[in-house]
Amino acid sequence: MKHRESKRAGGRRRSGAGALGARQKALRPARERARTEGRAASRAEAPRVARIRARLLDWYALHRRDLPWRRTRDPYAIWISESMLQQTRVDTVIPYYQRFLTRFPDVGTLARADLEDVLGLWSGLGYYSRARNLHRAAQCLVDHHGGVLPEDADALRALPGVGRYTAGAVASIAFDRPEPIVDGNVTRVLARLFAIEDEVGTPIATRRLWALAAQLAEGPRPGDLNQALMELGARRCTPRAPRCGDCPLLRSCAAQRRGDPEALPVRARKARPRAVEAVAGWVLRRGAVLAVQRPARGLMGGLWELPGGDLLAGEAPRAAMLRTLRERVGLTVRGATLSGAVDHAFTHLRLRLHVLRCSTPVGRVRLRDFSAFRWLAPGAIGALPHGAATRKVLALLHGEAGGR
Ligand code: SF4
Repeated sequence: MKHRESKRAGGRRRSGAGALGARQKALRPARERARTEGRAASRAEAPRVARIRARLLDWYALHRRDLPWRRTRDPYAIWISESMLQQTRVDTVIPYYQRFLTRFPDVGTLARADLEDVLGLWSGLGYYSRARNLHRAAQCLVDHHGGVLPEDADALRALPGVGRYTAGAVASIAFDRPEPIVDGNVTRVLARLFAIEDEVGTPIATRRLWALAAQLAEGPRPGDLNQALMELGARRCTPRAPRCGDCPLLRSCAAQRRGDPEALPVRARKARPRAVEAVAGWVLRRGAVLAVQRPARGLMGGLWELPGGDLLAGEAPRAAMLRTLRERVGLTVRGATLSGAVDHAFTHLRLRLHVLRCSTPVGRVRLRDFSAFRWLAPGAIGALPHGAATRKVLALLHGEAGGR
């Protein structure tokens, strides 16, 4: 299985070579447009922007948190931290970042690593496509950039999984390039500072935010400036109850002047997460437990879990267990006893996972929907890369009877 994963990644690497240059070229017009708009706006607002920039940098020098990725200028380490920090809290990221850099200290080590080992270190961090993309991007860097991260934001954006935000963050923080970044924190700060009422995510709001961020980044210490904006969003300009009294930008802030900072930014109402019920089976044969691997692409791609699947409408967990084992792994089991259920929230769905112990499986494993299987000693499943939902399932089973 390990060999197959490595070959697959290698294949993408070769096919991605030609696309690299084309993607770089395609990215230029949007970036140059943001720059041009930023410059045009900056002529009108130059003094105000200069004041904001200076106050932000002064505040950041005094109030920045001492975070592990702020103690280095190593572009590789900064890239890893920025990838991990997307959609993920700083406190959660710190131990993952430290373990990752200890195990994969440079581009070459990551490129040579087995994907399964990379996913293993990512287990529990979520959004697993980030780990797969880091692995593929490291291989691209070895193949096309001598194992070194390029300084240029367009070249960075041509790497798998590197978007406008990550490219700007690495280029500005690691290389002091005047590249803007816009994430959730920066969006909030800029929307309030400049009273942007366009709905976040619309083309007009996106253009305005990036143009303003570009204006701010065009000056001394763009990396610190970008981090200061994010830090302000995290520590002062919070979604609710912003600490305007402690904010260095109080006197420049349009939303504060209007008295309604919490009304900005304007966001579309989120769709309610879909509720899904599914089953997961602890299938034991001659002392070994069956684990299955999800396909490389898609939700939790490449991760291992216990076999099972979604309930049909009106279906009971036990019936769903017998059916999904038969349909998806080709096994018939005599008994299936409910051990309990765990709940897990994804961005777009709320999962209730019923956990069953299944006895006396009959037949040979034939997979549908999964990419690989292993019969393992009961304690070994936790060592494979797995997601947070499977971690909860294993905890329930082990807590119940030591994973018998
Ligand atoms: S004054 Fe208040 S709303 Fe304005 S940027 Fe500062 S914290 Fe945010």
